[in-house]
Amino acid sequence: MKAVSPIPKLLLGPGPSEVHPSVYQALASPVLSQMDPDLWTIMDETVELLRDTFQTSNPLTFPLPGTGMAGMEAAVSNVLEPGDTFVVGSGGFFADRIAELATRSGANVVKVDVEWGRSVEPGALEAKLKELGDVKAVAVVHCETSTGVLQPLGDLAAIAHARDALLIVDTVASLGGADVPVDLLGIDVAYSGSQKCLGCVPGLSMVTLSERAAEVVNTRKTVSTSWYLDVGLLKDYWITGRKYHHTTASSLTYALHQALRLVLDEGLPAVFARHEANSRALRSGVDAMGLSMAASEDVQSPTVHAVLMPDGVDSNQVRRALMDEHRIETGGGLGIFAGRAIRIGLMGHSSRRANVLSVLSALESVLDGMGYEIAASAGVEAAQRSWMSETG
Ligand SMILES: *Cc1c(COP(=O)(O)O)cnc(C)c1O
Repeated sequence: MKAVSPIPKLLLGPGPSEVHPSVYQALASPVLSQMDPDLWTIMDETVELLRDTFQTSNPLTFPLPGTGMAGMEAAVSNVLEPGDTFVVGSGGFFADRIAELATRSGANVVKVDVEWGRSVEPGALEAKLKELGDVKAVAVVHCETSTGVLQPLGDLAAIAHARDALLIVDTVASLGGADVPVDLLGIDVAYSGSQKCLGCVPGLSMVTLSERAAEVVNTRKTVSTSWYLDVGLLKDYWITGRKYHHTTASSLTYALHQALRLVLDEGLPAVFARHEANSRALRSGVDAMGLSMAASEDVQSPTVHAVLMPDGVDSNQVRRALMDEHRIETGGGLGIFAGRAIRIGLMGHSSRRANVLSVLSALESVLDGMGYEIAASAGVEAAQRSWMSETG
């Protein structure tokens, strides 16, 4: 059997994203034992970098083995106990998953439904919490990858706290691409994944818990359903001591360390501005091609975009052609957008001008091949005009 040698593809789907060469290099560093003080130094630095990226001083901040779903599972399983009432701001595939996981923890799960493509209304959430009375926690997805909606987080923590509930936020598709000021907003639990806006390889997730959330976890009446993702046990190894829990994924930790360094060296404001400018350029291009987004304009995320295909065009066929003819990976539509949308991620190292131009020109050529009339280069030229207007 030959050694693996995958053909590189341009990763512009809803994750994984492109990986910076220096992150691949970091992976090749020597593996160290979980009991080696040299590894502990790297771990401490990684925690520090993570706190800066989450914009928090929360002591309980660390990476977890497993992809973004491990972060979701950790958040839900540590906070919830059987019988707790848990409210999920719905409106997409990943919000529904949070609800599904929470059901397994024995919680009484209540959804605040919202049409796909829109964000959860703070007023509707407030009314639901008032109606329910005793609510343990509220969860929302910051960037809902299935719709491309960026949930405004503004007052949600205050609304939850007024009812003595915790706010859990899924930042898997936003951390490192859109502003997630954990302390400023009073978010109690946030989790993310390595391979989306942080531009690292898949395999790690990360969580941060406020003092309030730590207190809730510490005073549980029952043990959490997950031993592997038990925040209390993980804390004894990652934060307060070095009590063996599981073998540290050292290679992945090196890669995350490097990916976070790249984000913070560029500077969070510059990183967010880059995502915003490239997202605007993509949207201008899409608009010039006569297409529209699944998300309402005012809540469009700068990281993931669900682009609706022209009537009668099967989005799965477009997606396949983008791959077969241009080696560009995009995502298919989910839920009500299945067969109708393709999802374009411009996250982390994928959020670059050249990639916006590549995907727009490939999309033009694919749709043209399917007989859909577009003025030549309309999308690409609109994107270029968008950047020009940004720089004045
Ligand atoms: C990708 C994603 C997840 C799941 O992450 P995996 O890395 O696939 O486990 C969870 N939530 C959101 C919003 C995502 O985009």
